[in-house]
Amino acid sequence: MEETEEPHLDFGNTEIAFSHKTDRELKRTYLLFKFMNNPKLVSIGSFFGNIAAKIPFHLMDPIIRETVFKQFCGGTSLFQCQKVIDLLYHKKTMTILDYGVEARNKDEDFQRTLDENIRALEFAYSNPNVPVISTKLTGYVPISVLEKKQAGEKLSTFETIAMERFEERFVTLCEKAVELGVSVFIDAEESWIQDPIDELVNKYMPVYNKEKPILYNTYQMYRKGCLEYLQSNFEKARAGNYIFGAKVVRGAYLEKERNRAKEKGYEDPILPNKDATDEQYDQTIRFCVQFPEQMSLCNSSHNWKSNLLQTQLMKQHNIPNDHPNMNFCQLLGMSDNLTFNLAAQGYYVAKYVPYGPIKDVVPYLIRRAQENTSITGDMSRELKLLDEEMKRRGLK
Ligand SMILES: Cc1cc2nc3c(=O)[nH]c(=O)nc-3n(C[C@H](O)[C@H](O)[C@H](O)COP(=O)(O)OP(=O)(O)OC[C@H]3O[C@@H](n4cnc5c(N)ncnc54)[C@H](O)[C@@H]3O)c2cc1C
Repeated sequence: MEETEEPHLDFGNTEIAFSHKTDRELKRTYLLFKFMNNPKLVSIGSFFGNIAAKIPFHLMDPIIRETVFKQFCGGTSLFQCQKVIDLLYHKKTMTILDYGVEARNKDEDFQRTLDENIRALEFAYSNPNVPVISTKLTGYVPISVLEKKQAGEKLSTFETIAMERFEERFVTLCEKAVELGVSVFIDAEESWIQDPIDELVNKYMPVYNKEKPILYNTYQMYRKGCLEYLQSNFEKARAGNYIFGAKVVRGAYLEKERNRAKEKGYEDPILPNKDATDEQYDQTIRFCVQFPEQMSLCNSSHNWKSNLLQTQLMKQHNIPNDHPNMNFCQLLGMSDNLTFNLAAQGYYVAKYVPYGPIKDVVPYLIRRAQENTSITGDMSRELKLLDEEMKRRGLK
């Protein structure tokens, strides 16, 4: 682990990062990440897909529950998440509840997602350690309708109604969020369905963010022109006198995006390489940190350089570590070295805690497993840290 430039903030401190794990838990986590790091599992999506197709789910359930689900999810219900919320709070870390169900198709399923999101808002309201919930708007409307809308195709009567219901559900969610004073992060999804999602969030941010940042949209920095897009939305917020809520990520659908652009023969919407994404990401953090009173930023990354950059910029701009608009966030089960070392220095940091029925969170779990697989055969970032802590405790 390279040294950070600030002596007080050491992301290499694995003692703080893993102090919540007993030796037994640490060994188990190490073995899980070692398994996921196997280069043979590079196409882990199809690996799990093949297994899932051959083995009945009730047989898979206990294996998933005891391994990746335990590592990356808070539980199958809100109630089950309480243990994780308490543990995080003990480490001065807030929780963002993320109902992990994605891409539904039927009207009753969309209603169920909304009901679950409302329940999460109520749960958060009664729990001071949960200031935010997050949701994916593909839980409210068929993806096929979003895709058609974005492509500018004429919608059928049924599809027009689906879009109207989409907006109604979104407004119901926002009204409840404002009433309870709990914020909502809207996740970013694939580029070919993202425009109608952005339009909806941009339409209602001026309504709901007048006094405090209730709504946050997500900006994927692997997309070409995303910094300019964020800047133009910020200018609108400044002109309209409302608080701009921005969750900044690199982007999770790289392979899917590249494949679709190639297959359909349109310009790849993603930057050409990792360096270009990193550059745009860090430029965005540089931009956002200039306006701590007019925007609320959530730097959502496992990249230590991008996290460190924000702490350095905050110092330069004389922004206190615990400024409520300068947030950091990592996913549960990953980058504890960033989360808990930031928390130890008083930064406003949270973990995304996904929850939901195991079968429904499988796509999320596959993305996490893919992220932790090694293409080159080198140790993944997480595995290196776990390896260091195992050695520090004399377990290896
Ligand atoms: C709290 C939180 C919330 C999130 N919410 C969302 C969300 O709403 N929507 C979403 O899409 N993702 C989301 N993500 C996932 C995120 O987009 C990244 O996939 C993940 O965090 C890895 O990126 P990184 O910044 O942590 O670090 P790194 O590991 O440094 O970067 C990896 C990322 O760099 C980019 N990249 C890698 N190779 C290339 C290449 N060849 N060319 C161009 N870019 C490349 C990709 O985006 C890749 O995911 C979230 C992540 C966190 C921590």
